[in-house]
Amino acid sequence: MTEFLIIGRGLAASVLMHQLHEAEISFHTIGTPSLSTSSRVAAGLWNPIVFKRMTAGWLAKELTDGVMPFYEACEIRTGKKFATERTIIRPFNEEQEERLWTKRADDSLKDFLDPVIYRDHFPKGLIINRGYGLVKRSGNLDVASFIDATEALFNDQITEAQVVYADIQQHHQSVSWKHLTAKNILFCEGHLIRHNPWFNWLPLKPAKGEIIHIACEDIDLTNQVFNKDGFILRTTDGTLKVGATYVWDDLTDTPTDPQLTELEEKVRQMTHAPYSLKAHLAGVRPSSLDRRPLIGRHPSLTNFWVFNGLGAKGVLMAPYFAKNFVHFYKQSIPLHPEVQLNRYYDRFTQTQDQTHWST
Ligand SMILES: Cc1cc2nc3c(=O)[nH]c(=O)nc-3n(C[C@H](O)[C@H](O)[C@H](O)COP(=O)(O)OP(=O)(O)OC[C@H]3O[C@@H](n4cnc5c(N)ncnc54)[C@H](O)[C@@H]3O)c2cc1C
Repeated sequence: MTEFLIIGRGLAASVLMHQLHEAEISFHTIGTPSLSTSSRVAAGLWNPIVFKRMTAGWLAKELTDGVMPFYEACEIRTGKKFATERTIIRPFNEEQEERLWTKRADDSLKDFLDPVIYRDHFPKGLIINRGYGLVKRSGNLDVASFIDATEALFNDQITEAQVVYADIQQHHQSVSWKHLTAKNILFCEGHLIRHNPWFNWLPLKPAKGEIIHIACEDIDLTNQVFNKDGFILRTTDGTLKVGATYVWDDLTDTPTDPQLTELEEKVRQMTHAPYSLKAHLAGVRPSSLDRRPLIGRHPSLTNFWVFNGLGAKGVLMAPYFAKNFVHFYKQSIPLHPEVQLNRYYDRFTQTQDQTHWST
């Protein structure tokens, strides 16, 4: 019998397909990409630094150690190219920022910051007033190409369909959806997990994001990313992606005029070069309340699983935690304590109590 039915067609599902394949665990994926576009619109950056605090992000070393080797292995497996290491250009506005950079590059962030302050030969077309620093161990995944290549590779194990929860049947030691049966079901539905009757008690704080693609000849940016209260990076088709915005009170995938205005303002802060707008896209990031992934087994249904809460950092987090998930499933190696669902079991208990009282 197949080991896992995976529900979802985004980044989480694709990364899991590779990790399960590598561990020789069988799966069949069901989903339709159009219900949630987050993965397909994502800029695909990974960045170990939190610029606002000039600290390393959560598990920065562990996550960055594995990210490129994982996507490179997927490139070999699929025969396609979608991941590149790219340094991030971070311009300074004042002397204090430069001093902090030098200090951090010397101690707590020495793995991630180039200690050199670049004061001349600035890349063409970018607004850099006094100099810049470079972040190392950062990069970019063309997420849509990664998903396409993954789905082409595992084509026979994918069914295109919108899953209606009423069609999922629980049996004693298996679960089925229509004609497909497996030992387990694993939900990777992004922010739409909010509607999942088995996991809707997990606290999500989804964040809509918008991004634009522009054409601009006068910016010299190939294998680097420019980050200044927003980012610019070049895509494989030669256009530039500029992003991204955050909105919490509109959870649609529809691009809006106010966010376009904000993105165009970001462009003006980063370049004076003329450009033309090529695309304007939106998606909803599946962020959790405490900004940690939500991974594990349902508290009472032992063959119902979830892999969610990747938020704004899915590209960096998914490979590490998909491996962690597989190790947990296969060898009972514990999941990282901060991603385990037991931190929210009180919410699950409350929903059970409410169901009890209302019946
Ligand atoms: C503008 C923007 C920029 C971003 N930039 C970055 C970035 O630079 N770096 C980064 O790491 N992350 C970035 N992200 C975040 C990134 O997109 C997410 O972390 C990640 O893609 C989430 O993947 P997911 O598979 O969990 O969710 P999703 O991408 O939402 O995928 C869920 C999938 O499940 C399908 N689905 C759901 N319910 C059902 C159902 N009932 N039946 C069938 N199918 C179903 C959906 O259609 C979809 O295919 C960005 C997001 C946005 C919006």
